[in-house]
Amino acid sequence: MSEASAHMTRPIPAPAVSIETKPFWDAAAEGRFLIKRCTECQKAFWYPRAMCPFCMSAETVWEESPGEGVIYTYSVMHRSPTGPYAIGYVTLNEGPAVLTNFVDVAPDGLAIGMKVRVKFQPTEGGPPAPVFAPA
Ligand SMILES: [Zn+2]
Repeated sequence: MSEASAHMTRPIPAPAVSIETKPFWDAAAEGRFLIKRCTECQKAFWYPRAMCPFCMSAETVWEESPGEGVIYTYSVMHRSPTGPYAIGYVTLNEGPAVLTNFVDVAPDGLAIGMKVRVKFQPTEGGPPAPVFAPA
């Protein structure tokens, strides 16, 4: 298998879990993807945090998302000891952008605007981390 056709995988370090993000990681362990929504301005946001990044309201709630969106931008890292991998931003259908790793796709198989969906990948000793694969 050539480098270009190999699917990308790489070990993901355990995410840092805080009181603010614990519900997210608890849901991730069950394969559910949560985002937060502000009940003041109604905007959805990610990465999860207690305060709305748009209006600074503390009136925010968890919301389960299907984790579907499109690739906004990406870059492929070729010089990696574990083989090439790609990171980039996914724009969720709810609006927020998620910085993520792309999996189950060859480096040359990615494209801006491609539909992707979240899945969870085991980490080294922590809860599974969200990654995105072609939908
Ligand atoms: Zn808000």
